[in-house]
Amino acid sequence: MKLAFFEVDSLDQKIYINAFPQDEVIFFDGELINNVPLAARDADVISIFVCSRITAEVLKQFSRLKFIAQRATGYDNIDIDAAIKYGIQVASVPDYAVQTVAEYVFALLLCLSRKIYDAYYRLRHEHYFSHKNLQGFDLYKKKLGVVGTGNIGKKVIGIAQGFEMEVIAYDIFPDHKYAHLMKFSYCSFEDLLSQSDIITFHVPLNKVTHYMLNKKNISLVKKGAYIINTARGGVIETDALVEALDKNIIAGAALDVLEEECFTRDPLSLLIDNSPEKNELKAVLENHYLINHPKVIVTPHNAFNSYEAMRRLIFNTIENIIAWQKGKPINLVLKR
Ligand code: NAD
Repeated sequence: MKLAFFEVDSLDQKIYINAFPQDEVIFFDGELINNVPLAARDADVISIFVCSRITAEVLKQFSRLKFIAQRATGYDNIDIDAAIKYGIQVASVPDYAVQTVAEYVFALLLCLSRKIYDAYYRLRHEHYFSHKNLQGFDLYKKKLGVVGTGNIGKKVIGIAQGFEMEVIAYDIFPDHKYAHLMKFSYCSFEDLLSQSDIITFHVPLNKVTHYMLNKKNISLVKKGAYIINTARGGVIETDALVEALDKNIIAGAALDVLEEECFTRDPLSLLIDNSPEKNELKAVLENHYLINHPKVIVTPHNAFNSYEAMRRLIFNTIENIIAWQKGKPINLVLKR
């Protein structure tokens, strides 16, 4: 079989080569967008990361592709309906970074609540040893609104209880047993927005969750609340966030993910390789505004990036491919 891996750094390539001694394994440093490289067009399996975009147009360029091994939990960068149409199965890695992302949520939250970055910057770059204007707030007894109580949302709730925060949550499939066990309550999304001191997003990006927080409902957010997003950029309408910051509806935000974040990483690709869409250009501009905003902390989709999680990601991807090769696929994504 021919296996084509995209977005794999050179250190990890050896692991994949050793895992598939019978197969032809090829690598591409960059992501798979628009044009499939000639050498990959007869691949049976491809493995990609979050900046590849698997559209129907991309799928058409493969002559015998049968399996996509997504190296992430979310799979919003793959047109699943098109894959199903072409008889291609898709697997993702559901729980490699559950604890890892949940811990990162609190790293971001503590940076916001205790102005850690400002304190560090002041001392390192301004050589000014003073706590003046660095007053933060306690997490103790603050209300945390958790949007999405799947694997990561649940871990976040567990950690929040260590801080003795009050938790409310919203999920289309509420887990009432877990809520009883962990002593939190479910409410509507609107109530969560208006009651939470901090709102954290843990839903997948799909047609329903796209712009879940938007220009219409952001005015419901409690004045002075903070927003954390480690899910996917498209869950929040960037326009709404920018406006809410400007109008002081929200006091701050910590974002590990952004709308059109892959173009934000490489804006030139938008101009050279594509006919840029207006909304893509707008998102890239707004992202730069957010990155430079004093009340916002942006990190480059880094929440999953611990040593342990990366090991799990690699080995679970290998398991997904081997299980599919043996005709017993696991972790299949069935539909959007
Ligand atoms: P999960 O599938 O275990 O949980 C998702 C939860 O969202 C489920 O409980 C589901 O019922 C709920 N949900 C789905 N649609 C909803 C809707 N319309 N309204 C309300 N709730 C809804 O997923 P997870 O492991 O907790 O991961 C969540 C997301 O985090 C992933 O989809 C991925 O996009 C993101 N993620 C980001 C990173 C990172 O590095 N930043 C790493 C891993 C995962």
